[in-house]
Amino acid sequence: MAIRGQDIASVIKRQIEEFGGELTLVDVGTVVEAADGVATIHGLSDVRSMELLQFPGGTLGMALNLEEDSVGAVILGEFAHIKEGDEVRSTGRIVEVPVGDALIGRVVDPLGRPLDGKGPINATETSPVEQVAPNVVVRKSVSTPMQFGLKVVDGLIPVGRGQRELIIGDRNTGKTSMCIDAIINQKGGDVVAIYVAIGQKVGKVAATVATLEAHGAMDHTIVISASASDPAPVQYLAPYAGAAMAEKVMYSGKDALIVYDDLTKHAWAYRQMSLLLRRPPGREAYPGDVFYLHSRLLERSARLDDEHGGGSSTALPIIETQAGDVSAYVPTNVISITDGQIYLEPELFNAGIRPALNAGLSVSRVGSAAQTKAMKGVAGRLKGELAQYRELATFAQFGTDDLDPATRRQLERGQRATELMKQVEVNPLTMEQQVSIFYLLGSGTLDDIPPASIVNFERGWHEYAAANVPNVLKGIADSGELSDEAGKALDEAAVGYKSTAQL
Ligand code: ATP
Ligand code: MG
Repeated sequence: MAIRGQDIASVIKRQIEEFGGELTLVDVGTVVEAADGVATIHGLSDVRSMELLQFPGGTLGMALNLEEDSVGAVILGEFAHIKEGDEVRSTGRIVEVPVGDALIGRVVDPLGRPLDGKGPINATETSPVEQVAPNVVVRKSVSTPMQFGLKVVDGLIPVGRGQRELIIGDRNTGKTSMCIDAIINQKGGDVVAIYVAIGQKVGKVAATVATLEAHGAMDHTIVISASASDPAPVQYLAPYAGAAMAEKVMYSGKDALIVYDDLTKHAWAYRQMSLLLRRPPGREAYPGDVFYLHSRLLERSARLDDEHGGGSSTALPIIETQAGDVSAYVPTNVISITDGQIYLEPELFNAGIRPALNAGLSVSRVGSAAQTKAMKGVAGRLKGELAQYRELATFAQFGTDDLDPATRRQLERGQRATELMKQVEVNPLTMEQQVSIFYLLGSGTLDDIPPASIVNFERGWHEYAAANVPNVLKGIADSGELSDEAGKALDEAAVGYKSTAQL
């Protein structure tokens, strides 16, 4: 407190000295306190939240706490040299990042500086990291699928372009893999993907980039990385930088897919920053506006109406839970902001059911509006059936002897459906491939296949179908529908396949 008193005295003194000058320097302030990458500044009267500040030595900072007589700022980068009495200039600019096609294929930090050693980024445009989300009147309802290439998502929890779907689960349940699969599945399409890594180990991000590269997915992808070793403000900034890049895609009438991996660590970074800025801590020591933090981020993903170019930004925020606790503060916040959640469960994951999606607890509020007619037809009831099966299976483990035939059939079908949902990572299936196998499940073709053989049966089927009924698959792909004739052709092909398959 002694220091504070002195600070204020010195500031008042300065103000008295400057008093009388008509043109007070509104854009220059003085550091009165600096520690741990956070500075308190007096004298910046017109600064805006997230405005870029200039510290001595070319160091940049960002204004965050706007108080009546001081500004709390975080320093972006090296902060050891910043001390009391330093001059700070406001720039009138919100923190900006380069946007546009020049970033595709690159790995950058949250200020858009290259991290991949591939030379400078020749972007012609920049965009503020914080922007007002598209107004509801320029939005359109979600109707075009954002295919993940994963049966369990595209069939059960379809995600549409412009939707915000939360991926939630404990550590090591396949959250990142699911999103990377979704990005890889956009290869050769019209979607620009943005993967934002927040607070991860550098090695993990490098491995993810290597996977994307190995599958040719960097050709349509931008990676933004703020690793665990980066200062909290840099981690805090990362998702907003990504959102700005996604908005650029959306406002040019194209479709973006943005993954925030993950917002739990983002909230931690924000909490750390806020405590240093001496904001009052609330529940779980988070500042009171942590909800607003994520809502204003996710609001920026939308589907624009045709009048505004028809572009979209689909957001996949990831949340890591502790021991499956979805009712903790940050998870409940993000659940309430998004249009649904995909819940990945350790029990399923450990039982080898991967992706470990819990059908009962997962939901997509946009639902089948984002599915093709063909998919709706064959997978429409699957989610309910799978959820029911899990409940039944819990009872059935005490013995199946006195079950009625209908229940037994339901169990058998459920068992096969569960097996069918398995899919190894980076092995995307097209919509028509998925439709064909879901169709065979529904028509009872799989009923006499032992559950343990379903995975093999499916693999062989896709090869067989590609070789023997390519035109049927193409028909489904082109029309988005499964005609009666196509169904019949699939049934016939299945008979042929079964007679040749070694199961
Ligand atoms: P973390 O909490 O550490 O971020 P995570 O939930 O993001 O973990 P991943 O890193 O995606 O999980 O996956 C964990 C492990 O499971 C990885 O080794 C990955 O290869 C494996 N895995 C993920 N999905 C599948 C799948 N569908 N089939 C087989 N293995 C998978
Ligand atoms: Mg992960």
